[in-house]
Amino acid sequence: MRKFKVITLLLTAVLSIGLLAACGSSGASNTGKTNADTSAANDKTKDNASKENTSGQASGEQVVNVYTARNYDVDKVLFGQFTEKTGIKVNVVEGKAEELIERIKREGESTPADLFITVDGGVLNNAKLAGVLQPVQSDVIDAQVPMDLRDTGNEWIGLSTRARIIAYAKDRVKPEQLSTYEDLATEKWKGKVLVRSSTNLYNQSLLASFIAIDGEQKAEQWAQGIANNLARDPDGGDRDQAKAIVAGTGDVAIMNTYYVGQMTVSDDPEEVKVSEQIGVFFPNQETTGTHRNISGAGLIKYSKNKDNAVKLIEFLTGKEAQTLMSAENFEFPVNGEAALPELLASWGTFKTQDLDFAKLGEYNKTAVEIMNKVGWK
Ligand code: FE
Repeated sequence: MRKFKVITLLLTAVLSIGLLAACGSSGASNTGKTNADTSAANDKTKDNASKENTSGQASGEQVVNVYTARNYDVDKVLFGQFTEKTGIKVNVVEGKAEELIERIKREGESTPADLFITVDGGVLNNAKLAGVLQPVQSDVIDAQVPMDLRDTGNEWIGLSTRARIIAYAKDRVKPEQLSTYEDLATEKWKGKVLVRSSTNLYNQSLLASFIAIDGEQKAEQWAQGIANNLARDPDGGDRDQAKAIVAGTGDVAIMNTYYVGQMTVSDDPEEVKVSEQIGVFFPNQETTGTHRNISGAGLIKYSKNKDNAVKLIEFLTGKEAQTLMSAENFEFPVNGEAALPELLASWGTFKTQDLDFAKLGEYNKTAVEIMNKVGWK
């Protein structure tokens, strides 16, 4: 963060963008206290794109209007770098993904939105199914982002990936004892498993991936096994599961990799300590692969600044932006040229699920039904 502090401060002042917790309720902001500090400013300026000159036609000013549910500090830094490089101003509207999709639908042809950015492949596909996107045509993007990290029709482009892994207590669990997600649902881990609520999209997509790969029956057995093995009723976000490992509440937790990385550089010394006491295990390496999800950007069907929007995706998926995104947020880059931060490099390569991200949305409803049925709160 240090290198970019000046730019961040500048950006925050110029665009008056608050530092919201990332991914809606997931609480991934690097500095928890800034959320409250800037919430007032945020309320006033959240909608700046709809109030200001958003078409770029009136004054001749070049703009691109982004509706985003990916509210990370590094995204704002990157938007600022893009403006510096191209002179194109980035107006940001922040919100929850489904609400933004509804809004774009409601605004119809008159929408000021050019780009929709969110986490979760299922949600990206929902935007596509809602008919609010159009194909992105760019040789630059095609070269920078592998095909499996883009929509089949190029209506959305991946910006980063994240793995949902097993974190474990280094002092009580040996990595040799770990193997698969399925193993966590066996008697062996009774009373030792930590995972957040089933209302969380990360868990819904994890189960949706199992439905897609193993079928509904096996997926339900797994969810039942996890519900039976919980060390406590689901509580808090992914970081809180890691903290509960260190507190001795449970031995293993299902969580996203980037939270582990973010805790290593946290302002909160307790989080740094937690990150040192947990290990990261990539499950299902001999079988179906570790569950991977994606964040991405979709080009809005009625975009008035289409060229600028495509340029922004080209920039965000470029080597430099990807390297910074990974360094600051600890997500995996989609661009293979990007450098990995030391921690991610230390984990080595790993096998991921071979799955069309659209399936995560397709099976979301069934996943939620299963979780309710098995009593995963
Ligand atoms: Fe998150």
